[in-house]
Amino acid sequence: MPATLQTTSHARTQKLIVQKFGGSSMGTIERIQNVARRAVKTAAEGHQVVVVVSAMQGETDRLLKLASGVSTRPADREIDVLLATGEQVSIALLALAICELGYKARSFLGHQVEIRTDSTHGSARIRSIKADPVHECLRKGEIVVIAGFQGVDQHGNITTLGRGGSDLSAVAMAAALKADSCEIYSDVDGIYTTDPNVYNKARKIPRIGSEEMLELASLGAKVLQTRSVEFALKYNVTLHCRSSFSDGEGSWVVPEMSGLEDAEMKGLEGAVVTAVSCDKNTAKLTVVGIPDTPGAAARLFAPMADAGINIDVIIQNPPQEGRTDVTFTVPRNVADRAVQLLESLQPALGFHSFSVDKSLAKVSVVGAGMVSQPGVAQRTFAALGDAGISILLISTSEIKISCVVEDRFADLAVRVLHDKFELEKT
Ligand code: ASP
Ligand code: MG
Repeated sequence: MPATLQTTSHARTQKLIVQKFGGSSMGTIERIQNVARRAVKTAAEGHQVVVVVSAMQGETDRLLKLASGVSTRPADREIDVLLATGEQVSIALLALAICELGYKARSFLGHQVEIRTDSTHGSARIRSIKADPVHECLRKGEIVVIAGFQGVDQHGNITTLGRGGSDLSAVAMAAALKADSCEIYSDVDGIYTTDPNVYNKARKIPRIGSEEMLELASLGAKVLQTRSVEFALKYNVTLHCRSSFSDGEGSWVVPEMSGLEDAEMKGLEGAVVTAVSCDKNTAKLTVVGIPDTPGAAARLFAPMADAGINIDVIIQNPPQEGRTDVTFTVPRNVADRAVQLLESLQPALGFHSFSVDKSLAKVSVVGAGMVSQPGVAQRTFAALGDAGISILLISTSEIKISCVVEDRFADLAVRVLHDKFELEKT
């Protein structure tokens, strides 16, 4: 045990720090002990510590598999009861490990700290957090350990927040407690300009705006759950994404850095693009010969929405002879469901035919700086064109340009865009 653990507070100002550890950080007993040491180190520096944890790595998947062994169509409510046990194991083990180091710790389930949610089992939304017991423990100098991913609805049912939801639990806790910082620990040491496994020139980004991070997360960057970033942006929570296996500085996700101010700042520096992301979970469907009547698009997409299928890029061709074609993308893993749905809709909607292509990827450049900089789209298209990559679909937002390409070109596309915007340079 490092000597610093023995000393009491030398810190001038006591901070309230929320630390979130994901499944990989909690994967084994040794790793849980490592997490305990980190929490204790922070407490020994004189701070108040609230730790939010995920289930041990692989546990949530294991539980889901058990459920599918006994049920072909398991009820969402029971799945939530089942999945919440993963985090219950984690909090108890971590609290025990912290106590073993001579510090006081107390574990809490979601409902015990009153993380109230709506009743949407499997993807519940947080409505309020009371956190009285948390404050009480902190006052007594205890380290608080909270189960991530779970809450309770108004009828007392256990709910879960969607896969990766412990990130959201931590951010929401940090907001509710008005924490001084929210540290998100995982097995990667920050947010990179692109996936380092795809391109070895990828560089760690020291600071990134929440809006840019929101785009990156929703485009498939796995470091943070999308909804947690949304929440952080809305409630002004700064996140520090860092590695649980090293002491180094990670990446800061800062709400203030978003928007025009940041765009101007970046514009001056010439860095219009912050990162390149790639989502290989992409499929494209084209519906040919839809009668071009008012409400046709709604009749096509409403059933998709009802079936929980997320539509991404949509392109409608100009109508010819009273009929039009619509192309749209969906996550590849739900493409078969979308196809089934289209088959069943064909008689009612009266379109001629449809086709599906599942071997696609969406490559995106993201940067708040592009708001104030013309020519980013043109440079993106030129870089892909020069590399011989054809663009099948394009979609844009204020701070993002996405191109759908054949997935065999995805990695190449990432590399040429990373080079084009010189992301290897600081
Ligand atoms: N244990 C949950 C999952 O695997 C929640 C989380 O890890 O954040 O999705
Ligand atoms: Mg996670």
